[in-house]
Amino acid sequence: MSLREELEAQGFKTYESDEIEVFWNPQLCQHAAECTRGNGDVFNVTRRPWIDPKAASGAEIAQVIDRCPSGALRYELKK
Ligand code: SF4
Repeated sequence: MSLREELEAQGFKTYESDEIEVFWNPQLCQHAAECTRGNGDVFNVTRRPWIDPKAASGAEIAQVIDRCPSGALRYELKK
């Protein structure tokens, strides 16, 4: 089973670009806003979908996700 399949089975939603798959689980999110402060182009709660993984490089997004305190955000780099 891929990480994507595993996380989607746990309730995560997937957002992807050519460089990265971003997974988010609304039930785990504590709205700590580390993500929106970290990169407001990628993570913008006034927009739908609120995560746009094409708005930054995969490496930049990974750095922001590493600061998510709840485990609501996960990722897999494609390259
Ligand atoms: S950093 Fe994590 S817990 Fe905080 S708002 Fe973003 S996804 Fe939710």
